[in-house]
Amino acid sequence: MNDAHGHLIGGEEVGAGDGARLEVFDADAAAPLATVPDGDGADIDAAVAAARAGQREWWALAPYERERVLRRIGDLIERDRDRLAAIEARNTGKTAANAGLDVDFAVEAFHYYSGYPTRAAGRQIPTPDPALLCYTRLEPVGVVGAIAAWNYPIVLAAVKVAPALAAGCAVVLKPAPETPLTALELGRLAFEAGLPPGCLNVVCGGPDTGAALAGAHGVDKVSFTGSTATGRAVLARLAGSGRAGVLELGGKSPNLVFADADYAGSLDAILMGALVNSGQECCAGARLLVQREIYEDFRELAAARIESLRVGPGTDPASEIGPLISARQRERVSGFVERALGDGARVWARGSAPEGGFYYPPTLLDRIDERMEVWREEVFGPVLCLDSFDGDDEALRKANATRYGLAAGVWTADLGRALRFVNELEAGTVWVNSYLEQTAGAPFGGGKDSGFGRELGEAGALEFSQEKTAYVRGIRPRS
Ligand code: NAD
Repeated sequence: MNDAHGHLIGGEEVGAGDGARLEVFDADAAAPLATVPDGDGADIDAAVAAARAGQREWWALAPYERERVLRRIGDLIERDRDRLAAIEARNTGKTAANAGLDVDFAVEAFHYYSGYPTRAAGRQIPTPDPALLCYTRLEPVGVVGAIAAWNYPIVLAAVKVAPALAAGCAVVLKPAPETPLTALELGRLAFEAGLPPGCLNVVCGGPDTGAALAGAHGVDKVSFTGSTATGRAVLARLAGSGRAGVLELGGKSPNLVFADADYAGSLDAILMGALVNSGQECCAGARLLVQREIYEDFRELAAARIESLRVGPGTDPASEIGPLISARQRERVSGFVERALGDGARVWARGSAPEGGFYYPPTLLDRIDERMEVWREEVFGPVLCLDSFDGDDEALRKANATRYGLAAGVWTADLGRALRFVNELEAGTVWVNSYLEQTAGAPFGGGKDSGFGRELGEAGALEFSQEKTAYVRGIRPRS
């Protein structure tokens, strides 16, 4: 496969204005897979203009008609599940099983939001005068600029596009330059489902294309998923423009294992909370904090499992972990580990890494000091840091000593402790005796340097809505 794709603008596939192109890679073979245009400001302007026109047409449809289209988009993604999962596995290197789950989640997102338009009701507000009716209606913010990262391409596209369309908005989506293929497929399926042209535009490109979209005057709200550093650049473009944003940024999440937990029985769930998707997971529970009395036992179990992990191509059903997304990402991960060793950390266990592709071996580090860069910063690779704690208070202190606030996990048999930790952990999502479970009806997002705003659930659609207040005085009957 070596396809040359265009952007999707106004329902048409078009090439980039200046002819510049980007190569998209097969992460396992480390070989080119396809090319896409490298969009410029003119492409963004054309897409925003198409979205503006498409949004009026979309909002003019009856809510029930919009629901039918959203439902059908979900149905078509489901129809093409295996084809989409194969594209995703090949491009990203994620395992076939995980790529399939990603496609399933995209289906769930569209099906969940297909129930929204007919239920997106405003409120009636009591007034002091019975002749004065006060009510609100939910209206779309207009055109949404959606910018996505490369770790969950079809999921990130779906969790932005589905709620934005459900709220009555039109979207200009800029996928990550590494992973534009399933975003383009989503656009094609949306038109097959009957979405009016212009309601979903996909403009391919890198940082400059993203910056042009974030700065475009016709964009009413920006939904961004990516690193905290890029999120700040997006925020700087929004500042003073009077436009708003939802920022889903990085994390360095704690995963706390207490001695009373069934940690041997839950070992895979605990480790995969950090290693899934080769650690390219915003919620990765990569700060693994284990109660002191079980620390050595846990470390032995974890080491044996990490050494036995089957690392291989995403397209091989036997693989448990695939390659990283790019040579650049592999160098970045390797740099983190080298600096950690220089800081005094130790490699306690290391898995395998096949030759070829962008592989990095799953790695367990111990002898961690809280000041180390590898403990504080997001590695975005299969690297787990192991540290211990003595009691609940120390566990909480260590868990919350981070600039991030995206997610956290607690493994314990003590319900009272679990509830206290849910309350006191500084994170947008807390999992108890599980990790990384997600459903489209539940809001997702972070605090601190992990961003603001929410995706998914009703909150996800409300991000793309504005509440209009109406005061209506009935015409007084003639006396
Ligand atoms: P990135 O910040 O490098 O890029 C994200 C997107 O922003 C890409 O599409 C990129 O082309 C674009 N971009 C780059 N510079 C830009 C600029 N100046 N203005 C506008 N857009 C610009 O992130 P990445 O390396 O693709 O993804 C990894 C990061 O994403 C990690 O930090 C991860 O934690 C985060 N992430 C967060 C979530 C979440 O929901 N919180 C989910 C997935 C990934």
